[in-house]
Amino acid sequence: MELLFATANAGKLREVAALLEGEGVKVLGLGDLEEPIEVVEDGNTFIANARKKASTLHAASGLAVLADDSGLCVEALGGAPGVHSARYAGPEKSDAANMEKLLKALSGQKGKARAAHFLCSMVFISKEGVEVEAEGILNGEIALAHSGDGGFGYDPIFIPEGERRTLAEHTMDEKNKISHRKRALSAILPLILPHLK
Ligand code: IMP
Repeated sequence: MELLFATANAGKLREVAALLEGEGVKVLGLGDLEEPIEVVEDGNTFIANARKKASTLHAASGLAVLADDSGLCVEALGGAPGVHSARYAGPEKSDAANMEKLLKALSGQKGKARAAHFLCSMVFISKEGVEVEAEGILNGEIALAHSGDGGFGYDPIFIPEGERRTLAEHTMDEKNKISHRKRALSAILPLILPHLK
């Protein structure tokens, strides 16, 4: 059985493939498609973007599809950067500029006012068209300054709940055990396996 995971990111693909390996499911990424399929992520919510990616790819490929969308939400900023996480500081995707903008927006704020969470929405559509959804959340707070050089995106300024280190100071294995993506994946996995047999 094959599953198309809607990502061009090799790290994310490996994470999903590792989880499904033992189930006899072969996981393909967008790079495995003969013709590239473009999906514009213009929804107002993570779940809307994940649904759009999943349904577009399902219609185009005829395969079972898994799609996700994720980002960082800061409570004191009304949920921003949210679905605009990748390009918070402008049209050019820059992790450094995004983090600078966020640290500035929270300057002078302490403790609970720096509360934030990563959210990942996942949508699966079986070959036959059965749809399943799940989400994963990682709560934490925005650090006062960046620290660490692992991970990507906002990892150097995000401290998970119960931790002193930023996500960028976690090993990849440590992060992959607690991440919003891993939590969404663990929630959706038992629900989709019956549709992959
Ligand atoms: P996507 O769902 O991979 O497209 O993520 C959108 C954006 O959210 C990324 O470009 C990052 O800015 C941010 N983001 C999502 N997941 C993470 C994470 O695990 N660490 C840090 N930033 C993340």
